[in-house]
Order: sequence, then structure tokens, then C-alpha cells
Amino acid sequence: MSDIFEQPSSLSFEVFPPKKDGEFEAAFSLLDELGELKPDFISVTYGAGGSHSKKTADIASYIQNRLHIPALAHLTCVGSKKEDIRREAESLREQGVTHILALRGDRPKDMSDEQFASRDFAHASHMIRYLKSLPGAGLQIAGACYPEKHYEAESLEQDLARLKEKQEAGARYLISQLFFDNRVFYRFLDRAAAKGITLPVSAGIMPITTARQIGTTVSLSGSSVPKELTDLIARYCDSPQDMRKAGIDYAVRQILDLKSQGVSHIHIYTMNRPKTAAEITAAVRS
Ligand code: FAD
Repeated sequence: MSDIFEQPSSLSFEVFPPKKDGEFEAAFSLLDELGELKPDFISVTYGAGGSHSKKTADIASYIQNRLHIPALAHLTCVGSKKEDIRREAESLREQGVTHILALRGDRPKDMSDEQFASRDFAHASHMIRYLKSLPGAGLQIAGACYPEKHYEAESLEQDLARLKEKQEAGARYLISQLFFDNRVFYRFLDRAAAKGITLPVSAGIMPITTARQIGTTVSLSGSSVPKELTDLIARYCDSPQDMRKAGIDYAVRQILDLKSQGVSHIHIYTMNRPKTAAEITAAVRS
């Protein structure tokens, strides 16, 4: 498999696994559609707190082995023991999935203070170090980064110092939280570089195709929404078709601007909508 973290530029997608077991056929068919767009890789999210981890592995395996597109499996450690993580990483590797996005994950609501305090991996960087130390595993690890800082961090400066720990632990690539204001991302890149972070950073772009997304996914991400986007939502929220078109157009403009400024890695949060991904891909691929 080509090393997805070595490429000078990339256009990649994120998908999430189906919520129910009976929905795998539909999930495979949407993956087939995404596969036709020939992304450089497809990443697969992991259920909060480790729920449904087998679904992530099954979807990643389909991408890797049936579509022959490199898969990047997300893996969170907040609710897992070292042994669980070792087993999951080995099981992924056995299925040919060797690229992992190593994340801490958010604390599950039902996790007690005691459980949280005694977790095996306090932070993603600790899991990265552990995954890199597994004998013969040959895993390639990516980490997450936050252009507007992670919600728990006191400052971007402090968050960047923690981000550097991911690089030192052996991460080879970073994928950013979604953002809607490119200036925020450019400032983040400058400050990360000043801190000595040299890893490639893929820009996380989420097309807003329904007004509801702002109240759900986006507010969970903690990303700020610029006036241009709120105005657009206010204008088109009663017209789903126009909203979709305007949201795709916004994402395309964001990506074209990023490319014009030398950002060469773009990660699209597809929200499992292959048609949206197809329209954006067609508009931004040069
Ligand atoms: P960490 O890197 O551990 O950072 C968490 C916080 O701890 C930050 O504030 C950081 O500054 C701080 N910190 C880090 N190291 C230290 C240290 N040594 N000492 C003190 N503080 C420290 N969640 C899911 O459940 N499933 C997914 O599939 C998923 N995919 C994601 C994909 C991307 C691209 C992104 C950006 C996020 C994703 N998330 C996912 C959400 C993620 O799990 C949460 O944002 C989580 O709260 C932080 O994960 P992390 O790996 O960034 O954690």
C-alpha cells in the first residue's frame, strides 16, 4: 500500500459507520460511490468511548480490501485498557489496515471520576507512543489538531505544546477539526510551525448542506461560525435545495482559497453524503 502520509498533496474523506447492523449494505453502497471519486484515503470514525468498534474495523476493511483505497481507522482510548487497544490495533493490522488516527475521545457521560482518573491512556500522545512500541505492528499514526484550540485547553499556546507531544510520540500526520474561517487555519499553521510542529496538517472541511447541522455537529465541534455562513443559513434555511447548493459553494470556495495559499492536504467530512462529496471533488480537483 502506498504510504498515505508521504504524499505531497491529498484529498481525503471521512465517513462514519452505520448505527445499526442492518444498515451495512447501504453503507457499502455509499462507500462504493465515494470510492469512484478516488480519494487518497478514507477515514472511518470510532464510536464515542469505544462503542461499535467492530463496525469501524468492518468499514475500514471494506475500504482497504474491497475498494483498494487506503483506510485510516479512528481509534479512541478514553474508555480502553492497554490490552484492548493492542487487540484492536492487531485486529486492524490483520485486516490490512495499518493507518490509525489515534484519539483520546471524549469522556463518556457514564464514566465515573475514578474511572476517568485511572484510565490507561490519559492523552492521545500516550496511546501514540504505545502503538508505535508494539513489536512488528508497523502502524502509521495520525493525530487530531484544533485550529481554534481544543475545548479543554486554556490557550492555543498550551494546546500546541500538547500537539507537539503527538509529533514527538511518533505521529506522522495531523487532521484538523473542522473550521469555516480560513484565516483561523492560517494563523494556526503559523503558530504550529513556530512551535516546531513540522507534520503535514490536513484541513478539515465540513460542507454545511442543512441548517440543522449548525445546531448539531458544528456546535459539538466547538468551531466558530463566521457571519458570512450564518447569513447564508438565514437566507436559505427554508429552501433545502438552495441551502445545499450554497453550503457546497461555501466549502468549495474555502478549499480553493486553501489551495491557493499552499495548503495541500484537504480532508472532507462527508457526513456520508457521496453526492455532496462528488460535487465538491469535481469543483476543487485541478
Ligand atoms: P488529546 O490530544 O489527548 O487532547 C485532549 C486535551 O488534553 C486537549 O485540551 C489537550 O491540550 C490536552 N492534553 C493533551 N496532552 C496533554 C498532557 N500531556 N497533559 C495535559 N493535557 C494534555 N471522537 C470520537 O469519539 N471518535 C472519532 O472517530 C473522532 N474523530 C475525530 C477526528 C478528528 C479529525 C478530530 C479533530 C476529532 C475527532 N474526535 C473523535 C473527537 C476527539 O476525540 C475529541 O476532540 C477529544 O476530546 C480529544 O481527542 P484528542 O485525541 O485530540 O485528545
